[in-house]
Amino acid sequence: MIKIRTNLINPISPDEVQLFKDYVLGYDDGIIKLIRPYDPERDKDSEPALDSVIIPGLVDLHTHLSQYRARASYQPSLLPWLYEHIFPAEARSKDPDYARATSAAFFKALFAAGTTTAVIYTAPFKQACEIALDTALQLGARVLIGMTMMDANSPDYLIQKTAQALDDSFDLFERYNAKDSRIGYIFSPRFALSCSADLMKQTADFAHRHDAYIQSHLSENEDEVAQVKEIFGKPTYTQVYEDFGLLGPKTILGHAIHLSETEMDILAHTNTAIAHCPESNFFLKSGEFPFAALLDMSLRIGLASDVAAGNSLSMLQQAKFASYRQSSLSLTPQRLFWHLTLGAAKALGWQDRIGSLQIGKEADLCQIKLKAPHEVNEQLLSALIYLNEEFPISRTIIHGNTVFQS
Ligand SMILES: [Zn+2]
Repeated sequence: MIKIRTNLINPISPDEVQLFKDYVLGYDDGIIKLIRPYDPERDKDSEPALDSVIIPGLVDLHTHLSQYRARASYQPSLLPWLYEHIFPAEARSKDPDYARATSAAFFKALFAAGTTTAVIYTAPFKQACEIALDTALQLGARVLIGMTMMDANSPDYLIQKTAQALDDSFDLFERYNAKDSRIGYIFSPRFALSCSADLMKQTADFAHRHDAYIQSHLSENEDEVAQVKEIFGKPTYTQVYEDFGLLGPKTILGHAIHLSETEMDILAHTNTAIAHCPESNFFLKSGEFPFAALLDMSLRIGLASDVAAGNSLSMLQQAKFASYRQSSLSLTPQRLFWHLTLGAAKALGWQDRIGSLQIGKEADLCQIKLKAPHEVNEQLLSALIYLNEEFPISRTIIHGNTVFQS
């Protein structure tokens, strides 16, 4: 068993964290086996790391691997940004060498940020998605990955034929979904604007038959919302997804900013999970996430980088942005931490496997270097979020395997 003598911060609920000073955390076979106060007799064999704190591996609930090299492409509005920067950037992944290099760079950066679980879109090319899945398998990442599907209102160089988009996605699901306990396939219709009714309906039917995950974008931008309502002739954007059967407990929708009460009710009664992407919402001037209203409806919410509309893969940085993005709601450090860890694990239905430091859970860990041991106090969690640039990630562990070490 590997034993580390260190300090721990562990989420219990949205309002409560545990702070353990000078503890020993042990893991074996990928599973946490030991958490107890350091004992000089029994823990002589532990690795000393009192200049660090270990938190659960961070969860990024929505990010775009194939956009990784297009970060910081300035254009502060969703639809022009997609056409000017992102669609051409995604097209480059048609080249397998480019897709391979981008996948390698993305996972390296993801692990260096302390993220152990990520929900990922790739480009609308089957081979680029295969490369991302193979890279994740090889590196030991914990991921849901999907090929972005788009068969309508899209540039010629990206648009897929409906049958091909479906066949490719079904084949990827069948080949990869159960290949490894840490890898899953997620059906990824980009958003209603770039998908036909047929594509969305058939995707939903297949996913429900196979108990599979689905991800998409919802109500990010007001121009987008207006166009969706016009194309589909529905009263709301959420109603489009509801009518095609895309909503449910294994669906994760990014953004969900411009929502009516009726739409929030639909999301609540279908138990759909939400990925809040605060830096992206600042970058593209998309609007303010209705955090208070969605919490009132007990929706499952996780935070997300939304690279490349978000520029940083650091989830601690995203927590800071989530706090700043709210104009009046105060989000405590405990709550922000919850949405990066156990709360995000709940959004995936994986709360029994990951998300907190608990004996029997998988050893997904993020070790952070402290400047001085006296920092281990009630203020530490707040400092990790608001001063995250000053706290380097020193090691990232997934299922007991070290995937990053500085
Ligand atoms: Zn996105």
